[in-house]
Amino acid sequence: MSRTDYYDLLGVERGASEAELKSAYRKLALKHHPDRNQGSKDAEEHFKAAAEAYAVLSDPQKRAAYDRYGHAGLGAQGGAGFDPSVFVGFEDILGGLGDAFGFGDLFGGGRRRGGPQQGAHLRYDLEISFEEAARGSETSIQFPRAEACETCKGSGAAAGSGPSVCPSCQGRGQQRYQQGFFTVARTCGQCRGSGKVIAKPCATCHGEGRVPRDRKLTVRIPAGIATGQRLRLQGEGEHGTLGGPPGDLFVVIQVQEHPFFRRDGNDVYCEIPVNFTTLALGGEIRVPLVLGETEPLKVPEGTATGTTFRVRGKGMPDVSGRGKGDLLVTVQVAVPRKLNKQQKQLLEQLAAALPAEQFEPRTAETEHDERNLFEKVKDIFG
Ligand SMILES: [Zn+2]
Ligand SMILES: [Zn+2]
Repeated sequence: MSRTDYYDLLGVERGASEAELKSAYRKLALKHHPDRNQGSKDAEEHFKAAAEAYAVLSDPQKRAAYDRYGHAGLGAQGGAGFDPSVFVGFEDILGGLGDAFGFGDLFGGGRRRGGPQQGAHLRYDLEISFEEAARGSETSIQFPRAEACETCKGSGAAAGSGPSVCPSCQGRGQQRYQQGFFTVARTCGQCRGSGKVIAKPCATCHGEGRVPRDRKLTVRIPAGIATGQRLRLQGEGEHGTLGGPPGDLFVVIQVQEHPFFRRDGNDVYCEIPVNFTTLALGGEIRVPLVLGETEPLKVPEGTATGTTFRVRGKGMPDVSGRGKGDLLVTVQVAVPRKLNKQQKQLLEQLAAALPAEQFEPRTAETEHDERNLFEKVKDIFG
């Protein structure tokens, strides 16, 4: 039988680094794994061949011998002297495939399944309004989760019966068999690794020990919460199996954008249009607050458009309950759209009386669309 070159087999150059070998092998092992290719003899051969190639090339001594003499350099046993340590370093990906492929147990490795297990953590995405975030709120949510079956108290066995030793694995939870030149130990299919089977399954949960239920909860949302923050509700995830503890529920918060306010940390920013005469003469304006009230703000004489005023302690509350951010109000000059004859005359007189050097240089802020700003403010004040 002619033998394929190990480097060709793994699809790497002869000078391939350890990392390249490992990565190439990992890909092949996943592609050809027997569990992914049910019953395919061809896939199994590929899988074994890749393991053999990697076993040789990952061992510096064997690799040196192979580089010099080819397959003959590996002695009587050739490359087929299979060394299980070739799988050291691959537990992550093998284990990562998890139950779906039974990969974690493939090489007879240690993890024994089937004891009490913690229930899964659950995630619930909750969208709230800007006001709810500012004020804090309570809201009720509903979600499906696995809960312990009340009929059998989670054991899965019908009343009066109990679990008995699994006949397939004699209670070991694993089945071992020869696959090519190595022994495969795999989670027992009948007992799913617990080593026990239920002779008379509970009629309510069909032996699962858990049933799907809708859970309703009231969630208290602290004032000041921001997008991306999550609330952990301990023990509100799925129930565990065989008496294992429940998982947690994570409520992940998304705060809706506000048409007028913009948040940065605990500070809140807004822009309000102010009559050009007020900016010129100075005066008091009212600024809207996050929770709907308004607050007076003094504008000094000769205020340029685009000036920002800081109103202390009127921003978002800190989610820890300690203090509040500030409100930063930027004023934008508002120019009347239509003037009557008398108003025009007055402005013309004013214009004639005002020399150019009395004006502040205009800022880039002036470029804002003032009408748009007006509409927003109209919405806020109703
Ligand atoms: Zn039950
Ligand atoms: Zn079993």
